[in-house]
Amino acid sequence: MTANLLDFDLEGLAAFCEQLGEKRFRAVQLFRWIHQKGASDFAQMTDLARSLREKLPGVCTITDLPVLSRQDSADGTIKWLFDVGGGNAVETVFIPEEDRGTLCISSQAGCAVGCRFCSTGHQGFSRNLTTGEILAQLWHAEHFLRRHLQRGERVITNVVMMGMGEPLQNYNALVPALRAMLDDHGYGLSRRRVTVSTSGVVPMIDRLAQDCPVALAVSLHAPFDPLRDDLVPLNRKYPIAELLDACLRYLPAAPRDFITFEYCMLDGVNDTPEHAEQLVQLLKGRVPCKLNLIPFNPFPASGLKRSPRERVLAFAEVLQRAGIVTTIRKTRGDDIDAACGQLAGEVQDRTNARERMAQRRAAIPIVAAGAPQ
Ligand code: SF4
Repeated sequence: MTANLLDFDLEGLAAFCEQLGEKRFRAVQLFRWIHQKGASDFAQMTDLARSLREKLPGVCTITDLPVLSRQDSADGTIKWLFDVGGGNAVETVFIPEEDRGTLCISSQAGCAVGCRFCSTGHQGFSRNLTTGEILAQLWHAEHFLRRHLQRGERVITNVVMMGMGEPLQNYNALVPALRAMLDDHGYGLSRRRVTVSTSGVVPMIDRLAQDCPVALAVSLHAPFDPLRDDLVPLNRKYPIAELLDACLRYLPAAPRDFITFEYCMLDGVNDTPEHAEQLVQLLKGRVPCKLNLIPFNPFPASGLKRSPRERVLAFAEVLQRAGIVTTIRKTRGDDIDAACGQLAGEVQDRTNARERMAQRRAAIPIVAAGAPQ
């Protein structure tokens, strides 16, 4: 069986090269060709020994994901729908801003957590992506954008694992992908600019702190357990108190001195001034944090509605008055349905496509002023 070199971080590639009887520095050369130059043809890799260039095609490939569609928004947002086989598709979204380019990456086809406000959750779980499938989203987007924008240098400055899936439920594939993103011979992103967003898989938050501490975002969405049990079913296994303790344990290893909490504003469900006060009681003085309030994008299957703007503003005011840094997110890519889960839902069930038009714009950090770097 041939290996896909996108499945390896640098250590993995070095081990692969050793199996071929090659020295470690060959792995560094290969890794740079693949990730820094976007090469997929071994013949291009002119500084490799000819014997190695001739050996590689027989034992490995550099395999991109097939693109089902690409949509370009008027505001510069670009969304890809990638085919991952078996009738499954995953989405990747690039969000350009003045001072950064953020790529939102998927970690699973579907998701088992089943959050009520999330289209991907409503689609159910198909399978984990491989490291190669996670990294291929970045590899494809970065090198497409360089060609498209005719730029020689890096275009994607930030990566957020906030697309389809719960990244910490695909931990073994996630960590090598993160390492390739951080590696100076790969994408060279700083830990502060790579964010893992989780619904609260407590044991894996602890492991991430040990193995690869990057910026952490936690989908909170409720200030007390019974409500969060309903909105984020994983809360029944890892309730809020355990989750906040895990956040505190994560902070010493984290590249930032705060945790980002995401809070999707749902009309009449979690958006009253009382909820805001409860959130202050929960977080203030307990976990150094920033809070992002996210507009919900309604889809009929959810039975939920977006909070009115004035209620979001009032909610934010309560938090800000209490000294909690709070950002109200704005949406991007509206004309291309850039919320994660929307197009993939259509691929899964074209007969019910409109009902699946969904809700993960929520989770994309498309940000108003004051957002984290
Ligand atoms: S919000 Fe995240 S964890 Fe929850 S169902 Fe959607 S993809 Fe899964």
